[in-house]
Amino acid sequence: MSLEELYRETILDHNQSPRNRRALAHPTQSAGLMNPTCGDQITLELEVKDGIVTDVGFDGHGCSISMASASMLTEAIRGKSVEDALAVAQHFKAFLTGIPSPVPLGDLEALKGVSQFPSRVKCATLAHNALEKALTGLQ
Ligand code: ZN
Repeated sequence: MSLEELYRETILDHNQSPRNRRALAHPTQSAGLMNPTCGDQITLELEVKDGIVTDVGFDGHGCSISMASASMLTEAIRGKSVEDALAVAQHFKAFLTGIPSPVPLGDLEALKGVSQFPSRVKCATLAHNALEKALTGLQ
């Protein structure tokens, strides 16, 4: 299997079985964002205790890139400190402009190909922008 095929499989897998696509019982932070150019809509909920993202969930609708990216992001940040969670979002956005990430991005790396399609970068970064919006002021 080529790397491209592996990436495609990973994106497909997150679309078919989104991780953490659920509402939290006791969210402490949340943020909703829309990407009007594509029609993507994402709401991210987080439970932050003592500076740690103890739980995270998302809901929304949109294209496969936006939904897969949200699913991948929730897996990448659960259990991390607020600072490290924000670093994932920040480095992922830089990663889509071709800058290698100094922190592990997990399945998010499967979205590397999106960098070749500037119009889809907004889809891939929507959940990450929602995370930054939700955690603003907490780091
Ligand atoms: Zn989209």
